[in-house]
Amino acid sequence: MAILHNLGFPRIGRQRELKWALEQYWQGSSTLDALEHTGSTLRQRHWQDQAGLDWVPVGDFSFYDQILDLSFLLGNVPERVRGFQGAALDNYFRVARGRSVQSDGAACGCHGGVAAGEMTKWFDTNYHYIVPEFTAETTFQLNAERLLAQVAEAQALGVAVKPVLVGPLTYLAIGKAKDGSDPLALLPRLLPVYGELLEKLAAHGVAWVQLDEPILVTELVPAWQQAFEQAYHQLKGCRVRILLATYFGQLQENRYLAAHLPVAGLHLDLSGNKDDLAPIIDLLPTHKVLSLGIINGRNVWKTDLAATLDWLEPVAQKLGQRLWLAPSCSLLHVPVDLNSETVLDAELLSWLAFAQQKLEELQIIGQALRDGRESVRAELEANHQAITSRRRSTRVHQPSVQTAVAGIHPAMGERQHSYAVRAPKQAALLQLPAYPTTTIGSFPQTAEIRLARQRFKTGQLSAAAYEDAMKAEISRSVLAQETLGLDVLVHGEAERNDMVEYFGEQLQGFAFSQAGWVQSYGSRCVKPPILFGDVQRPQPMTVAWSRYAAAQTAKPMKGMLTGPVTMLNWSFVRDDQPRSVSCFQLALAIREEVLDLEKAGIRVIQIDEAALREGLPLRKAQWQAYLDWAVAAFRLAANGVADDTQIHTHMCYSEFNDILPSIAAMDADVITIETSRSDMELLDAFQDFAYPNDIGPGVYDIHSPNIPTEQEIVSLMRKAAERVPAERLWVNPDCGLKTRRWEEVLPALQNMVKSAKILRKEQVL
Ligand code: GLN
Ligand code: ZN
Repeated sequence: MAILHNLGFPRIGRQRELKWALEQYWQGSSTLDALEHTGSTLRQRHWQDQAGLDWVPVGDFSFYDQILDLSFLLGNVPERVRGFQGAALDNYFRVARGRSVQSDGAACGCHGGVAAGEMTKWFDTNYHYIVPEFTAETTFQLNAERLLAQVAEAQALGVAVKPVLVGPLTYLAIGKAKDGSDPLALLPRLLPVYGELLEKLAAHGVAWVQLDEPILVTELVPAWQQAFEQAYHQLKGCRVRILLATYFGQLQENRYLAAHLPVAGLHLDLSGNKDDLAPIIDLLPTHKVLSLGIINGRNVWKTDLAATLDWLEPVAQKLGQRLWLAPSCSLLHVPVDLNSETVLDAELLSWLAFAQQKLEELQIIGQALRDGRESVRAELEANHQAITSRRRSTRVHQPSVQTAVAGIHPAMGERQHSYAVRAPKQAALLQLPAYPTTTIGSFPQTAEIRLARQRFKTGQLSAAAYEDAMKAEISRSVLAQETLGLDVLVHGEAERNDMVEYFGEQLQGFAFSQAGWVQSYGSRCVKPPILFGDVQRPQPMTVAWSRYAAAQTAKPMKGMLTGPVTMLNWSFVRDDQPRSVSCFQLALAIREEVLDLEKAGIRVIQIDEAALREGLPLRKAQWQAYLDWAVAAFRLAANGVADDTQIHTHMCYSEFNDILPSIAAMDADVITIETSRSDMELLDAFQDFAYPNDIGPGVYDIHSPNIPTEQEIVSLMRKAAERVPAERLWVNPDCGLKTRRWEEVLPALQNMVKSAKILRKEQVL
């Protein structure tokens, strides 16, 4: 019956073994051999974990990023690292991480450091890949040793090898032409290399190769549609069979194209909806395999197996041998194994499935189709119980929250008056100079702060002692800000480990796994909170800290919150209600916090929406619907305050052009954004749009150890003032300062304050 396979397995390891091995190697405390050994041990273990499948992915392992692996495999290595004499893997890490001038030793014939490859998000996931670099001159040359060695390694272990690679069109589409040329023009040079690779794989006894083309679920212009035809017609002569994998959405208008490309099989992501299924079954030529992604590869919930079988059984009848089954996408995006969890309670655990459990679900489905549901009765029964318990749980469903959401009315998202009326009232209350200075919230997270938090968590430090330690830290940072002469102060966020986790831990409806790590990039992993139930705020979350901080100074103290959209976008979220509903629940909780802060005398409140843009759907046609509810949620959280309470928001990215109307619709009094590296050109968009409220364009690049000089800041702000009226400009860093050291932060902020003084003198308001 159905063939079972997997599109990719998390490579980081149950205990994040890969992370530790990489970091040891980078620090120089272990050898290349040791690193390679860890790699091969992990691959072997993960293949064993997938042994029950008919086809197992090979090539999904990577020491940093599978797209960077592909760039090396295709011989598309940036010019700047070509002269390197050392080990190939070291050169690979040079592209991945960059090298400073000091650390770039004699191994390199070049002078100076090496810039790291640019990193960006893999479609709408939180995984970051290294962007392939192109120019009109780029050529390709096959360098498949690493992949072929892994194929041989797997074959030697008796693994049913299915190499997985990103396909040529997606590879070109996700790259960047440094010279502004069209990457698609490189296709004729790229295809022969893919062809050569497929032939080599065939020669090594490979039967199937999975080529991932997730851009097929996005809107394609005709040139790219034609390029798909061209590419796959050219590859069709190869002796391997190609499984064309699409995921992260539906094919929709690309169905006909995808169904008729000359490949041996097509994979669909059915995790969102099944709209593609019936039309694809009709369109797909009968000699082709249809692989169905029936298990959500991006979320952590158990699959409802009975419900899946209900619709799948007739499909299996119809497709017979042509049916393959798999998770919707690579399992890279979920944690490895639920069995590593020791703190989550049994009930919650019973609702979840991580990578390992998802593959078990797949096998149960496979067996049910092959031998009948009776043959897996116990498994189906256990699954049914878990699904029912979650559906009925009072931890998930809180009538009072649902009533509150139902009671949301548009007026709750409206400020009392427009910005034009509010601004003078706020000016009267806050008494700020022109070019007011502020920071984005966090101050350096020193080793002492982290230690105190950790000791408090593990019970080594009493609540009272912890509170004292945090208060001391708050006092220190408030004093530092007063000494610097900043205008709107912050408490410094010493008590926060992470801007989402901090709030999630205090809200009902969130759970935190112990080992639910997901690779974000390279050795970096994140542990997304699990939003499992209706959200409620049992008590104020930040008021005590803010009130304490405010009492240390006569200057305005800014309260600091994470916005509902960012909390949603950085968590594993519920699949039993629309994202928008979860977001409104979060918004109501944040709204209560905002109003409590206001009551406590905090009259400047910042609500960070660092991840608002990330939530944009892959298809432009769906953007507006998302933006509408995201903005509504922010407004609901923010806009219950009085006219003279000033709302700030912060976003740390730089692409605003295409979403500015929505940003403006948030109606925050002040928006602080990341601009220092763009030389303020980014503000062009704000100028063209005539953005109506205050803007704080970042003048201090917090990703760099460089300290901006007074002159640099003044010159950046002058450029800003050419685009935005000076009376609506603020002076602030690009983002929070938690990753920097005080030794850097103090002089940088000092220069910022001095610059503001210079600007004020120049200005005749
Ligand atoms: N207030 C947060 C901080 O300063 C904002 C972080 C962010 O935008 N990513 O750390
Ligand atoms: Zn930021």
